[in-house]
Amino acid sequence: MNPTKRFSSGRILLFLFIILFLLIGRPTGFLICTYVKDKKLAKVEKTGYTNDASHLNETKVDSAVKAFEDIDKAIAQITQLVNLAKGQGKKISIAGAQHSMGGHTIYPDGIVLDMKGFRYMELDSTDEYLSVGSGALWSDIIPYLNKYDKSVAVMQSNNSFSVGGSISVNCHGWQPNSPPISSTVESFRLINADGKILNCSRTENTQLFSLVLGGYGLFGVILDVKLKVVSNKMYTAHQYVIKSGDYIKEYDRLINDANIGMVYGRININPGNFMQEAILSTFTIDSNATIEPLQEAAFTSIRRTVFRGSANNDYGKNLRWKAEKFGASQINGKKFSRNQLLNESVEVFQNRDSAYTDILHEYFIPKNRVGNFIDSLKKIMPAYKVDLLNITVRNVKKDEDTFLRYANEEVFGFVMLFNQAKTSEAEMQMKAATQRIIDAAISFKGTYYLPYRLHATKEQMNRSYPQAKEFFLLKKKYDPSEIFQNKFYQTYK
Ligand SMILES: Cc1cc2nc3c(=O)[nH]c(=O)nc-3n(C[C@H](O)[C@H](O)[C@H](O)COP(=O)(O)OP(=O)(O)OC[C@H]3O[C@@H](n4cnc5c(N)ncnc54)[C@H](O)[C@@H]3O)c2cc1C
Repeated sequence: MNPTKRFSSGRILLFLFIILFLLIGRPTGFLICTYVKDKKLAKVEKTGYTNDASHLNETKVDSAVKAFEDIDKAIAQITQLVNLAKGQGKKISIAGAQHSMGGHTIYPDGIVLDMKGFRYMELDSTDEYLSVGSGALWSDIIPYLNKYDKSVAVMQSNNSFSVGGSISVNCHGWQPNSPPISSTVESFRLINADGKILNCSRTENTQLFSLVLGGYGLFGVILDVKLKVVSNKMYTAHQYVIKSGDYIKEYDRLINDANIGMVYGRININPGNFMQEAILSTFTIDSNATIEPLQEAAFTSIRRTVFRGSANNDYGKNLRWKAEKFGASQINGKKFSRNQLLNESVEVFQNRDSAYTDILHEYFIPKNRVGNFIDSLKKIMPAYKVDLLNITVRNVKKDEDTFLRYANEEVFGFVMLFNQAKTSEAEMQMKAATQRIIDAAISFKGTYYLPYRLHATKEQMNRSYPQAKEFFLLKKKYDPSEIFQNKFYQTYK
């Protein structure tokens, strides 16, 4: 054979091999490595200590009390505990699933009241309201409601949270055109600082109603809640890859449809084209489709591996964005029940590396300033040594119910997830970045979300929440001995 020909066919083969390696070999090898390195989660609980989802708040406590499951027993237990704390000058911090990240469920040497055991639930005869113990998790509630073709009206994007924790931060989700969860709370029962049970609603104990919703456990123990529920429906998914600068224009165009049931957006964070693109996902109601039974979440291993591969790794971030855009084209037209969409736990994507932790931020930006905020983030983020993994965007309508509100008008929540080393240097970088982003949010008349790290200065807290001073004065009025305590209160009171 002609040696020149042999040489050139050898080069072609090598070239093809390199192309094949780049297209398939490298991503496959990378994902296999990520999968193998990904550890199983070993939950280490130190006796006499508590912590929260930040994994940065390990604190020695006096004791932990688990609420009873039985209603009468739980009432007697909690009342007794409050009276005991009052008599002995002890402090109580109240815990749901402890997914807050700033010690909101923790007080040094205090008593942790763990409400998770208190989780009865009952749908009323009109099928419109669910009465539920505040310790119940959405992962308990969704399968229960599913049996009655019902669903949660407003909740977070995952099912791992308790009802008490959710209404105490006044959570929101990806239900568009909806205020936060407080708008779905008909009433609740509270055990106050005198150990008395109070009914709170829009007509009874109205001030306490608005203080306790979004009140971070500072006014008493929420015993049980009457929540509005909605019908479970089938939705058809559509995903659109758009320019991030067009987010609001596209959002308005796409959700101008009475059949839209859920919407969320995701902005790209890969360094290749940082924050230039977004994927907008809409879910339209299909009234003719038969409701499918609840199933285990699908493809969790591969989704987790692609996601975790993007931590501390630019190649992984670029690969993930490509995979997400490919996924967007594949998901179009697929059908999911509302309950299926809501029933995913945070554990699917959770950090399992003991040297690192996942930290969330959220900023609420008025609709007409969303573009400005995106432009600011493009400039701010590269200035800090922080590992941004994800930005999702959700719509929240004006909150008419709570005292310490974050949605003073229609806003868009920017949920930012970071991978953070458990070192003081990483904590300092994160604190500096958080304060800078909060300043940007404030400059656009926005706010930041309170359940996360306590990095905001007091001045930023007061500028974001002008009602904060009065909120803390009212806390002292309703709880003069300051029995209900946590690190959030200690920092900002
Ligand atoms: C991975 C992840 C995803 C998230 N996604 C979203 C989201 O999509 N939307 C959103 O809005 N938020 C989101 N959050 C924030 C989340 O909603 C809050 O952290 C919420 O408080 C979690 O509920 P929990 O049961 O863990 O509450 P906890 O952390 O246990 O408690 C939060 C606060 O509620 C108080 N509390 C709890 N139970 C009671 C009770 N029975 N009586 C009185 N006070 C009580 C506590 O004292 C504390 O101050 C997310 C958080 C994480 C970690």
